[in-house]
Amino acid sequence: AAKRLAGKTIVITGASSGIGRSTAFEFARTAPNNGLKLILTARRVDALEQIAKEIREEVGEGVQVLPVKLDVSQPEEVRGFVGGLPEEWRDIHVLVNNAGLVKGVAQAPSIAEADINVMFATNVTGLINMTQAILPIFKARGPAEDGGSGDIINIGSIAGREPYAGGSIYCATKAAVRSFTDALRKELIATRIRVMEIDPGQVETEFSVVRFYGDKSKADAVYAGVVPLQPADIAEIAVFIATRKENVVVADTLVYPSHQA
Ligand code: NDP
Repeated sequence: AAKRLAGKTIVITGASSGIGRSTAFEFARTAPNNGLKLILTARRVDALEQIAKEIREEVGEGVQVLPVKLDVSQPEEVRGFVGGLPEEWRDIHVLVNNAGLVKGVAQAPSIAEADINVMFATNVTGLINMTQAILPIFKARGPAEDGGSGDIINIGSIAGREPYAGGSIYCATKAAVRSFTDALRKELIATRIRVMEIDPGQVETEFSVVRFYGDKSKADAVYAGVVPLQPADIAEIAVFIATRKENVVVADTLVYPSHQA
C-alpha cells in the first residue's frame, strides 16, 4: 500500500475534524516515508495546522502536510484553489471529497431556506466544483502504464440510500452525491480516472451531535449501548480503496456499524 502512495499528493476536504481528519492520519501512517504530500482543507485553518503538527509529531518529516483554508461552498474559493497552491503542490493524484454538513431543523416543511442552500452548496455543489477543479490535472496526466491517472473518493452516506423522516434535505444532498458519483465514473471511463464512493452509517464525530441540533445528551442517548463507527473505520477504507492496483475500482462501499439496520 505504501508503494502505491509513493510521491503522491492527496487533497482532503473537511480535514479539520471527524472522518477527514482521520483520513489524513491514515494516509500518513500508511506511507510515512514515501514522499507523500497531504493538502488538508477546511474553513478552520487553525485546526488544520494543529493536525499538521500532530501528523509531523507522529510520523516525522517523511510526509509533507499543507493546511489550506477553503470553504467548498464558495465557488470562487474553489475556482482559485489549485492556482493558489505552491507550484510543487499542484500535481494532485487523489481527491477525497469529504466536507459535508447537516444544518438546522431538518424537517422539510419548516426548514429555513438558508439551511437548505448551505447543505446543497456544501454537500453537492461544493463536491462537484472541487471535482471540476481537480479533473484537468488528472486528465493532463493521462493513464499511466499500469492504468491509473487519479482518484476521486466521495463520502456519501447511508442517508443517500435510505432516506429517513427528519432528514429529507440532508438525505436529498447525499442521494445527489450518489447519482453524481455514479454518472461521473461512467463519463470518465476512457480516462482511467477512478471515481469511488464510501457511504458510512452512523459514525461518532462532531457531525453526530449536530444531527441532534447540538443536543449532546440526545446524541449520547442514541449511542448508548451501541458501538458506532469511529472516523478511523472509514479512513481505513478510504486508504484501502486508494491503494488497490490501478485497474481495480472499488466503486461503491456501504459501511454499517454492526448494530445498525
Ligand atoms: P464532522 O462535522 O466531524 O466533519 C465535517 C468536516 O467538513 C469538517 O472538517 C468541516 O470543517 C468540514 N466542512 C463543513 N462545511 C465545510 C465547507 N463549507 N467547506 C469546507 N469544509 C467544510 O463530520 P464527519 O466527519 O462525520 O463528516 C464527514 C463527512 O461524512 C460528511 O460529508 C458527512 O455528511 C459524512 N457522513 C457522516 C456520517 C456520520 O454519522 N458522522 C455518516 C455518513 C456520512 P470546517 O468546519 O473547519 O470547515
